[in-house]
Amino acid sequence: MSLLPIAPAYRQLGSSGLAISPIAWGMWRLADDGATAADASKLIHTALDAGITLFDTADIYGFDGTGGFGDAEALLGEVLHAEPALRGRMVLATKGGIAPPSPYDQSPHYLAKAIDASLKRLQTDAVDLWQIHRPDILAHPHEVARALDNAVMAGKVRALGVSNFTMPQVAALNHFLDHKLVTTQPEISPLRIDSFENGELDQAMMLGLTPMAWSPLGGGQLLDPKTPRGIAVAAALDAVATPRGISRSVAAYSWLMAHPAGIVPIIGSQNPARVAEGAAAGAVQWSRTDWYAVLVAARGVKLP
Ligand code: NAP
Repeated sequence: MSLLPIAPAYRQLGSSGLAISPIAWGMWRLADDGATAADASKLIHTALDAGITLFDTADIYGFDGTGGFGDAEALLGEVLHAEPALRGRMVLATKGGIAPPSPYDQSPHYLAKAIDASLKRLQTDAVDLWQIHRPDILAHPHEVARALDNAVMAGKVRALGVSNFTMPQVAALNHFLDHKLVTTQPEISPLRIDSFENGELDQAMMLGLTPMAWSPLGGGQLLDPKTPRGIAVAAALDAVATPRGISRSVAAYSWLMAHPAGIVPIIGSQNPARVAEGAAAGAVQWSRTDWYAVLVAARGVKLP
């Protein structure tokens, strides 16, 4: 049986020189349900103690349609203020560029303001990774690149990334940047497999970008699939998970991590036990046959 390599304990975040764990923890849902700084602190300690060092947030996290913009960053900032030593243990990533109700703004003035506002809420001098959350079609990539390069040169941002960009959008922005992109963040999961065949992961490998997978469990749908396709994908994951005594979520994370692009799944759970459990995904090794069985279940049609 041909086995795929397991993820290394640490990998580089693109060409940034920053070492990261092969799996990340995300804070999209951190400020939901009235979470306190004590709740946030517990989750951050759990993730760090489990070996997770890459933390992903965004300025929009916490926004509920009317208010709450910046709430997730502010909660993390409270924790970092109370426990400053935590900052040095994490590679901190945030995002900006979604500007309700515009809906997007990547004008140089807005970007400069958004980065400063994030640093203030996070109570830190610099973030390790700053990502454009969604592309602003009205922004010229040359102007965007200038604003982002300025943020790097000012020491506010160590490295740059994008999320939800098309491949031409990645290429155009990277063309104009002096400080080249190190990450891309598309939605990838066993239920969302577009990146495997549409060239996004090939582009990431070609440019040396680390792909960070958002919603790696399909926002939780993988745990409670309702469609015949979802049920088939869950069954293909369980065929590997059950005999090994691991959960379907760990099987899903490790399935993503087995791809040669070095996909970093972003755990979305805000349940400490599930966050800790997710960190174990790095130890799970896939055979080619089992890996392709999940892909075929997700495609719904056999490979040629
Ligand atoms: P996900 O891992 O696909 O889904 C997490 C959800 O599944 C949580 O609500 C979690 O609830 C639920 N869940 C149910 N059973 C679970 C189990 N056994 N194990 C783990 N989770 C279970 O991820 P996500 O939250 O949608 O997204 C992950 C991260 O991706 C976000 O935090 C954010 O950093 C990033 N993201 C980025 C974008 C973007 O546009 N760039 C968009 C969305 C997300 P519990 O909390 O109760 O466990």
